[in-house]
Amino acid sequence: MSQSDANAPKKRGIFAWYFESSLLWRIMIALVLGSVLGIILPQNATVGDTTWVSILTPFGDLFVRMLKMIMVPVIVCSLIIGTSSIDPAHLGKVGVKTIIFYAITTLFAIAIGLACGLIFSPGSGLELDAAKAVEKSANAPAMSQILLNIIPTNPFEAIVKGEILPIIAFCIFVGIGLAYCKSSDDERIARSAETVYAFFDGMSEIMFKVIRWVMQYAPIGVFALMFVVFNKAGIGAISSLLTVTIALYVELAVQVFAIYCVVCMLIGINPAKFLKKVRAPMLTAFVTRSSNGTLPITMRTADEEMGIPKSIYGFVLPVGATVNMNGTTVYLGVCTLFIANACGIDLTAQNYFTIIITSMLAAIGTAGVPGAGALMLLLILESVGISVTGTVAVAYGMILGIDAILDMGRTSMNVTGDVVASLYVAKTEGKLDASKWEN
Ligand code: ASP
Repeated sequence: MSQSDANAPKKRGIFAWYFESSLLWRIMIALVLGSVLGIILPQNATVGDTTWVSILTPFGDLFVRMLKMIMVPVIVCSLIIGTSSIDPAHLGKVGVKTIIFYAITTLFAIAIGLACGLIFSPGSGLELDAAKAVEKSANAPAMSQILLNIIPTNPFEAIVKGEILPIIAFCIFVGIGLAYCKSSDDERIARSAETVYAFFDGMSEIMFKVIRWVMQYAPIGVFALMFVVFNKAGIGAISSLLTVTIALYVELAVQVFAIYCVVCMLIGINPAKFLKKVRAPMLTAFVTRSSNGTLPITMRTADEEMGIPKSIYGFVLPVGATVNMNGTTVYLGVCTLFIANACGIDLTAQNYFTIIITSMLAAIGTAGVPGAGALMLLLILESVGISVTGTVAVAYGMILGIDAILDMGRTSMNVTGDVVASLYVAKTEGKLDASKWEN
C-alpha cells in the first residue's frame, strides 16, 4: 500500500454503520425489535392487501435456507478435519482412554439433556401451528434399521439426499483413514494425504467465511422470524424462550455436579478445589463462546493450576476442543424437544434413539467456534425427519434469536468436560502432580 493510500480517508459505504457494529448486539436488537413489533401489531395486521406476516416470512425463510445450504459442506469438512487431527501415534492407551471417556460423558450429557428436557417440556403450549403438527415421517424405521442405515451403501447418494447420519459415519471413516495416511512411512502416501487434508482444511475455512457472510444477514432473518412468532403466538412466546434457557442452564448445572464432580470424587480429587481451579477456562469460554479460542487458557490451567503433564493435556485438550462437546449435546437435546413441543410433534422412541446417536456424532462435527452448535441443531431435526420449513423454521428461528445466550453456557461446559477428561487420564495414568492439589 502506498503512503497516499494509507493516508486516504477510508471509504464508508451507506451500510458501514451496519457492518461496523457488533453482530451480537445487532442480533439482540433484532430479537427484541421483532418480538415487540410482533406483539404490538394486531394479529394479521395488513399493509395493503397483504399481512405483515406473509411479507416478512420470506426474509426469515431466506436465513434458514442459507443455513441449510452450508450445513452439509460444513459437516463434511469439519468432521474430516476433526477426526483426522487425532494423531494415530497417540492412539495407544492414553488415546483410547480419552476417546472412551469422551464417549461415556457425552452419552451421560445427552441422557441428562433429554431427561431434563422432558421434565421442563420447553416449548409446550406454544402451539405455533397445531395443524402442521405431524410434519415428520410417519413410518419411523426400527432401531436395528436405524443402526444399519448409519452405514451408507453409497456415500455420495447420502450427501445428495442430505441423509445426515450416513454422511457423518462416512466422514469419520475418511477422517480416520486420512489420519493414518498422513503419518505413513511411505512418502508418496503421506504427501498425497497432506494434500487431501489441505483441501478439506481450505474448504472448511471457505465454509466459515460463508457462514460469516450468512451471519451478517442474521439480524434481518432473526427480526423476521421473531416478528412472525410473536405476531402469531403473542406474548406467551417469551415464557417459552425463558423456559428453554432455564432448562438448558439447569441441565448444565446438573452436568457439572452429576458428572464432573462425581468423576473428580472417583479419582480422589476434591470437587470444590476442581471447581475453583477450572473457573478461568469456564469464564473465558462463557464470554468468548469458543472452545478453540479458550484453548490457551485451558492448557495453562491444566499445566500450572492442576499439575497435568504436557504429554497428556497436549493431546487430550486439543482433541477435546475439536470432538468433545458435552454442553452442545445437552443443548441439542433440549432445543430439539423445544421445537418438537412448540410445533406439536410427538417424538417416538425411535426418534429419541436417533437423537442420541446423531447428537453424539454431531458433537464430533461441531467446530469449537461461536454458534457452530446451532447449525448442528438443523442436522438433528433433519435426522429425525422433522423438516425445517414452515412452523418448524419459525421455532428454529426463535432458538437462533437467543443462541448467543445458550452458546455461552454450552461452550463453558464443553471446555469443562475437556479439562475433566485430561484430569482423569493424568490421574489414572499416575502422572498427576499431586502437590497442586494439596491445599
Ligand atoms: N461455541 C461452541 C464451542 O466453541 C460450539 C457450539 O456452538 O456448540 O464449543
